[in-house]
Amino acid sequence: MPASFPTNRSHAVVIGCSFAGLLAARILSDHFERVTIFERDPVHDYPEARRGQAQTRHLHGLLAQGFRLLNRLFPHLESTLVQGGAVVSDMGESIRWYHHNGYKLQFPSGLSGVSMSRVFLEWEIRKAVLDLPNVTLRASCTVSRLVTTPDRSRVVGVELASEEHQGPTPIIQADFVVNTGGRGSATGKWLEGLGYSRPREEEITVGVGYATRIYRRRPDDLIGANLVMTSPTPPYQKHMAFLFPMEQDRWIVSAGGWLGDHPPTDDTGYREFLRNLPVADVFNVIQRAEPLSDVYTYKFHSSLRRRYERLNRFPEGYFVLGDAVASFNPIYGQGMTSAAMQADALDSLLRRGSSLEGLWRSFFRKVAKVVDIPWQIAGCEDFRYPETQGRKPPMTDLLNGYLARVHRATHHDSVVYLQFLRVMNLMASPVSLLHPRIMRRVLL
Ligand SMILES: Cc1cc2nc3c(=O)[nH]c(=O)nc-3n(C[C@H](O)[C@H](O)[C@H](O)COP(=O)(O)OP(=O)(O)OC[C@H]3O[C@@H](n4cnc5c(N)ncnc54)[C@H](O)[C@@H]3O)c2cc1C
Repeated sequence: MPASFPTNRSHAVVIGCSFAGLLAARILSDHFERVTIFERDPVHDYPEARRGQAQTRHLHGLLAQGFRLLNRLFPHLESTLVQGGAVVSDMGESIRWYHHNGYKLQFPSGLSGVSMSRVFLEWEIRKAVLDLPNVTLRASCTVSRLVTTPDRSRVVGVELASEEHQGPTPIIQADFVVNTGGRGSATGKWLEGLGYSRPREEEITVGVGYATRIYRRRPDDLIGANLVMTSPTPPYQKHMAFLFPMEQDRWIVSAGGWLGDHPPTDDTGYREFLRNLPVADVFNVIQRAEPLSDVYTYKFHSSLRRRYERLNRFPEGYFVLGDAVASFNPIYGQGMTSAAMQADALDSLLRRGSSLEGLWRSFFRKVAKVVDIPWQIAGCEDFRYPETQGRKPPMTDLLNGYLARVHRATHHDSVVYLQFLRVMNLMASPVSLLHPRIMRRVLL
């Protein structure tokens, strides 16, 4: 934290204390004298799936880019996670991944990933953020609206829902407000109420359904790998299942299906679903493992992107980050990493030390660049199903034809697979798969 701050960097407010909110608070603590996070749910000092983030019961893979950024923001995080039972693995060597009718190679890729429950990861990050001397959390506090200057050109604070508020005034003044209220964030409604336009929304309907169960993990459950991924070959197959290790010697299994073709939730049906996948790797582990939970479900209707960067007018001092900007088909595991990259973009702008005036414009432009890539990767794969609805970018089918060959090459060519892994982990641009060095190997 710098010894003194410019006068307009006294207090920053973050709306929402989930993954994006915690990263935003961590970044803002370097640039503002004080940071306050407001969270609608009660928050306890243990790992928990709260009402406002029901998805956190399900398998959450952290991509290598996300892990890299988290390690930079929280230098002790990796060792703390490992001490708590998280499993760090090489993303190439330790995943048994069946995809496009074959197993991908297993080889040391140098890309590091970590596997644990999402609630445990978030709890460790939350503790680290709340240990910062200038960050405060106010849980069970809903932000009900933005407070602006009389001409509505600038956000100067937030108002708390009066029924929950116990202090003398429900108005909290702030120089900077970041909304990380998730996909259901009220930003669009608030903007309209202040006379601004809502951002245009893009939607890709995928009709994905998850069914997740936790099992006890034994050392000899899986030989030669730490994680199992069985993915479908579209458009004929719609079912998938992932099995990842978690702290406290447990497995998490998330089974899923596209376009309304979802896994059953009764014990027999769930096992049969896993047995009938193109390969029975997940079933082979769970058939003798003790279930430790019920089957939890989650329905994810569509990927959704809000185009803040295309707005001409926006209130000064107000920012939106995380799922509130873009929420992706969860099967590709991009949401947390995208939030970390957006928080990193905010950090680099604030680090320039320039005025906060007009910062929203450059911020949303940077966020759009961050979101473009995971949006493209997920959308391209989803449009392999003809029933997928949404704006299909030109050349998608042509690109998918080439990418089908890339997928097949990953079964036997480590150079192609390494580049594919780097792209899927948001460490390299998808365009790099069209580099002549890779293309030659894919096509020949
Ligand atoms: C089934 C499923 C599986 C997923 N799997 C993965 C995965 O494998 N890998 C991955 O990287 N991502 C995954 N994701 C995405 C990931 O969960 C999100 O990207 C991530 O949680 C970031 O979300 P967020 O912090 O922006 O919002 P959220 O997690 O939705 O949190 C929003 C928070 O804001 C609070 N809030 C909202 N409004 C207010 C208000 N007015 N006042 C106060 N508080 C408010 C809410 O209570 C909540 O705590 C998955 C998502 C789903 C649905």
